[in-house]
Amino acid sequence: MSAPTPLIAGNWKMNGLSASLDEARTIAEGAKGVAGRVAICPPAILTYQMSQLLKGAGVLVGGQDAHWEDFGAFTGDISAQMLADAGASLVILGHSERRAGYHETDEVVAKKTLAALRAGLEPIVCVGESLEERKAGRALEVVTGQVRGSLPAELAGKPFAVAYEPVWAIGTGLTPSTPEIEEVHRAVRTTLLDLFGDHGAAVPILYGGSVKPSNAEEILHAAEVGGALVGGASLKAADFLGIVKAL
Ligand code: PEP
Repeated sequence: MSAPTPLIAGNWKMNGLSASLDEARTIAEGAKGVAGRVAICPPAILTYQMSQLLKGAGVLVGGQDAHWEDFGAFTGDISAQMLADAGASLVILGHSERRAGYHETDEVVAKKTLAALRAGLEPIVCVGESLEERKAGRALEVVTGQVRGSLPAELAGKPFAVAYEPVWAIGTGLTPSTPEIEEVHRAVRTTLLDLFGDHGAAVPILYGGSVKPSNAEEILHAAEVGGALVGGASLKAADFLGIVKAL
């Protein structure tokens, strides 16, 4: 089984207006020829415009969340089918801001992952421990438990990624040490092999949490790190490209 193709995905969160599409254009120009896949996950309302803009430019467009149903009476929600229809090819699911702010359990994330598969989207499923859990020595137990609970068996043979994002590292400027990142990524890999056999070896395991141009090279070259999920530093083309070029 070949090594996973690295993926760097920018999560714009609730940031960006139509004027920010210029930033996406600059990212696409600067990312030409990089050694991996690059994606931008804008606010859902920009998905269509960004997909049109980036058509053929080599940068993928993704969603930041999707409902577990395809259609229905869920006011304000967006389904994976809708994201795919608007041109997305990936979707972030189970981000800690969704798990914490919207009470998303592993079970909900697994249902959303199935919806992404039905829509033909590649899910990026996020997992990560809180600071209390790390301090209590429970990081590996929590993260591998989330991997088992959030990834349905139907992912077997399908393209998907896991993003390890320690909650305490998101938007804080703090990052685990490289050996700490490697320890968790190795545990995630072992779990993926257990769940999916050989296919588990081909799944990129992204690191996320305060990745920036100055630490990207070390993080991206750590054992079992197959790319990055980038929040704050994906909003400015120069910063995001500084990370992408560290691949
Ligand atoms: C994220 O929210 O997925 C993230 C990694 O954020 P930041 O890079 O800002 O820490």
